[in-house]
Amino acid sequence: MNIPYNKLYLTGKELLYIKEALEDGNIAGDGVFDPRVCDFLERRLPGTSVRSVTSGTHALELAVALAQIQPGDEVIMPSYTFPSTANAVMLRGGIPVFCDVDEETLCMDLEDVEKRITGKTKMLMPVHYGGVCCPMDRLVDLARDRGLVVVEDAAQALGSTYKEKPLGTWGEMGCFSFHGTKNLVSGEGGAISIRKPNEDLLEKAEIYRQKGTNRIQFIKGEVSQYTWVGEGSSYAPSDLLMAVLYAQLEEMDQIHKRRSSIYHGYQQQIRPMVERGLLRGMSTIPNNVTSNYHNFYVLFHDGSTRDRVRQRLQEQGIGAVIHFVPLHVSPMGAKLGYAPEDLPITKMAGDCLLRLPLYTAMTMEEMMQVSKALLEALEHEYDR
Ligand SMILES: *Cc1c(COP(=O)(O)O)cnc(C)c1O
Repeated sequence: MNIPYNKLYLTGKELLYIKEALEDGNIAGDGVFDPRVCDFLERRLPGTSVRSVTSGTHALELAVALAQIQPGDEVIMPSYTFPSTANAVMLRGGIPVFCDVDEETLCMDLEDVEKRITGKTKMLMPVHYGGVCCPMDRLVDLARDRGLVVVEDAAQALGSTYKEKPLGTWGEMGCFSFHGTKNLVSGEGGAISIRKPNEDLLEKAEIYRQKGTNRIQFIKGEVSQYTWVGEGSSYAPSDLLMAVLYAQLEEMDQIHKRRSSIYHGYQQQIRPMVERGLLRGMSTIPNNVTSNYHNFYVLFHDGSTRDRVRQRLQEQGIGAVIHFVPLHVSPMGAKLGYAPEDLPITKMAGDCLLRLPLYTAMTMEEMMQVSKALLEALEHEYDR
């Protein structure tokens, strides 16, 4: 068997669009494909303005800069995330405060969030793990009551909704990734959505993204030359990458439909294993959420069983992989003063979670082979 964890899916239009971008002659940022990408995303993220950036990480850095996080400001985020969420805050001198996650979604546990709010808290950063989320209406209400900004790490969540409202449109800003491992890819790339009305933030974002210059005003013909007008960095992606991304976005709905079939196939095969007590749990889509089916995971009762089963699947050519080392458990988390037991559900997820192969072109037969191999490995472990 050779069923990798992830496999690049091409729609077939990528080379055509790259050629178009090359022939147009502007392969730096803000070429012909960039507005097509942003228009598409704005239609899918109503009530926001969207700008492309060079990565999901840079979208997070830009959002934290725009939120004017100052040294000493506290930002609450789940520990169960990628380091970029915390780095974006630390690069401005802010302090990431890690909260625990809810066992059903592995997203922020809002009761735990509430306990961690102090006079220094400025912002909440929910992470939409695997394309699902915590109750976003409650989170936004909590933020409003306490005067906090919400920036969504929606790196994995383009196309998902909560109560029919897209993820990435609930907070002041949303951050998306088109990294080669996500559902829709440009290779490296990202986007930021900024909720309307947003004139002030949007102008700052455009300046920041273009190296602190008003180049965007120049491109629009509003000024005759461009110059340094503020703080900034280089976050505009090459139009070659936007050409690839546009080809992918055009097939977004078909891509999510294919992933949905695999995801629901897994749920059907694996539910009996959970019911028999062979597993602690599996990916679920909570009430009020529609998912983009970014990943599918199972939870084991303990870490050593997880590691042995993973090994067994790997030996059969099945690319089952663990996910985040929780940030509070990492060497950097220890430096920030956390002990692994501080966030028990997060620690459990770090120890016991295994992601199964899920990619757009995966067949139902491959999904069945993985499920069967998992069942065999579990029966071997528990000798039944
Ligand atoms: C992928 C990811 C990022 C980083 O995005 P890049 O485009 O790789 O920089 C940040 N946060 C989460 C939750 C992610 O999954």
